[in-house]
Amino acid sequence: MSLRQVVVVGGSIAALTAVEMLRMEEFDGRITVLSDEEVPPYTRVPLSKGVLAGTESIDDIVLAPLSDDVDLRLRTPATALDIEAQVVHTPAGPVRYDGLVIATGARARRLGGPDQVERVLRSHDDCVRLRDDLAAASSVIIVGGGFLGMEVASTARALGKDVTVVDLAPPLDRLLGTVVGGRVRSVATQAGVRIVVTDGGVRLLGAPTPTGVELVDGTHLEADLVVSAVGDVPNVEWLAGSGVQLHGGVVVDHHCRVAPNVVAAGDVTVMSQGNGDLTRSPHWTNAVDQARAAIRALLHGDEAAPYRPSQYCWTEQFGLDVKLVGDLDPQGEPTVLDGSLEQGSALLAWPDATAPRTVIALNHHTPPAKLKRLLRPTAQARA
Ligand SMILES: Cc1cc2nc3c(=O)[nH]c(=O)nc-3n(C[C@H](O)[C@H](O)[C@H](O)COP(=O)(O)OP(=O)(O)OC[C@H]3O[C@@H](n4cnc5c(N)ncnc54)[C@H](O)[C@@H]3O)c2cc1C
Repeated sequence: MSLRQVVVVGGSIAALTAVEMLRMEEFDGRITVLSDEEVPPYTRVPLSKGVLAGTESIDDIVLAPLSDDVDLRLRTPATALDIEAQVVHTPAGPVRYDGLVIATGARARRLGGPDQVERVLRSHDDCVRLRDDLAAASSVIIVGGGFLGMEVASTARALGKDVTVVDLAPPLDRLLGTVVGGRVRSVATQAGVRIVVTDGGVRLLGAPTPTGVELVDGTHLEADLVVSAVGDVPNVEWLAGSGVQLHGGVVVDHHCRVAPNVVAAGDVTVMSQGNGDLTRSPHWTNAVDQARAAIRALLHGDEAAPYRPSQYCWTEQFGLDVKLVGDLDPQGEPTVLDGSLEQGSALLAWPDATAPRTVIALNHHTPPAKLKRLLRPTAQARA
């Protein structure tokens, strides 16, 4: 069946890429984009960096506008999906589709109770609030030492704040492995960041605005501002009861398909590996690449090439530019392909240079496309 009316639910990079791809594939039917946001699609990447630091504004991060023939409906959340009737429900009424793209991403996970107004960083609004709070604070505790938490720590430290990062494990180890994670941590501590590793869960103290945390051993840490950076939660509630398979996200197959004429892309998804395993990759490049693959599958069915994740992500913090391709948390000592950690610029591969499963460029000039090619022999061997 040829599609005449595609509805894209979501207002960010996966949604926008899906629309661009529809037009690139010469889809000439109607495209409707439903976004619950107040503002047109923007990139979140600078929210923890330039926008939080005050050097970039919303105007700098808005993505290229959609063409006039696309019906972008802001402040229009999808509230339910009826797959049989091919209808997305919204407060403004039902929207019919014959092709659907689910791109509702994720929101920040929260730790606090209902009486606590917790600071998180996911949206532009969160960022503006956090920037104002940071300006008024002299000390900040960041709960969570993943990419996001450490980027916020870096920006806060650059603004002269007293910064403490609390996590259950040494920050970044579970993403970058102990070698590069340790390197970034040592640059962070040299910059003045205090790192606290605790053996158990953290409780936010103070209401409505948290002003401290309690560690599992009873220790209290206090600060003017507490930020939670403890992961994200896929936005799937509107799909409850629709028949869409939900398991920590929308389950997609290797063509990013969810149901007949329904595909999904980006942070909202988990990908079925066919053996019961599900993988999630909540990173920018995955959202873009998956949206392209999802549209090809929507338009061309089985003839479309299956989606092969490039497994690429990056982070910028404490003056370091870290690009990673392949499996997260590489174990053991890397093979040095170029430069050296001691010199502060290195290209590293795990477990070796001939069949790497992970390559990391730390302050190294290798462009992303070349990094991805370094991993390709392994990816092909696995296919
Ligand atoms: C502060 C920050 C910094 C980041 N930095 C990096 C980085 O340096 N490198 C990197 O690789 N990745 C980074 N990321 C991750 C990257 O931004 C995400 O992977 C990417 O935004 C995912 O895009 P998405 O479109 O799938 O989802 P999202 O960006 O979450 O967008 C989902 C959209 O859907 C809307 N929506 C949700 N529910 C509904 C509904 N029911 N109806 C209608 N609309 C709805 C949301 O409001 C939003 O507009 C960062 C993320 C954050 C938050």
